[in-house]
Amino acid sequence: MSLKEIYSKVEKAEQVFSRPVGNTKVIAVSKVQPLERIISVLDQGHRIFGENRIQEAHSKWPELKEKYGEVELHIIGPLQTNKTRLAMELSNTIHTLDRQKLAKNIARLAQEMGKCPDLFVQVNTGEEKQKSGISPSETGSFVKECLSMDLPVKGLMCIPPINEEASLHFALLKNISENCGLQFLSMGMSADFEKAISFGATHVRVGSAIFGDRVRPSEQ
Ligand SMILES: *Cc1c(COP(=O)(O)O)cnc(C)c1O
Repeated sequence: MSLKEIYSKVEKAEQVFSRPVGNTKVIAVSKVQPLERIISVLDQGHRIFGENRIQEAHSKWPELKEKYGEVELHIIGPLQTNKTRLAMELSNTIHTLDRQKLAKNIARLAQEMGKCPDLFVQVNTGEEKQKSGISPSETGSFVKECLSMDLPVKGLMCIPPINEEASLHFALLKNISENCGLQFLSMGMSADFEKAISFGATHVRVGSAIFGDRVRPSEQ
């Protein structure tokens, strides 16, 4: 799909589902994509990208930013504690705040660095053993704890289980975010971003629909 088609599908979904038009951020997920595909999307004027590995993001984005100017970079993959500083230096937003230890680390580094990316708390809506994220019932207290550390938590993020109807998870995340008083929702990928918008997504993470199939299999 072309970038234009994605934008127009997003706009159509915003209209159909009575969402504020132009309010959905399309994060172009460029993990493991060949450089020429990323450059093509940059050449079309898109400036919001997502990466799920810090090392990989570090190996391409500082150079691309030199050439193309400011780019808004979103970290959407699991964040190891020892990569926190680099993630905070590289990115504008981290979508995967998923444990107390990481929250404390970010808070300490934010003091030291004098800046902090916007944060989303990842919620394990399917309560899957192998998936990271805070369980739905503990999200409220975790968000409170983060806010009490002065962390800029702006929203919630989820990755629904592969074999379940995503709608249930989008609705659950929306519900939890309302209870927490948070404004933003990071949910929806190539296969279901329009559905996610219907449930109030403000940030959709779209990879293969923009760039084509990933050359290496995806790592989530
Ligand atoms: C890879 C990835 C995406 C994009 O997936 P597509 O199906 O290619 O759109 C979105 N979110 C996360 C967390 C990812 O790791």
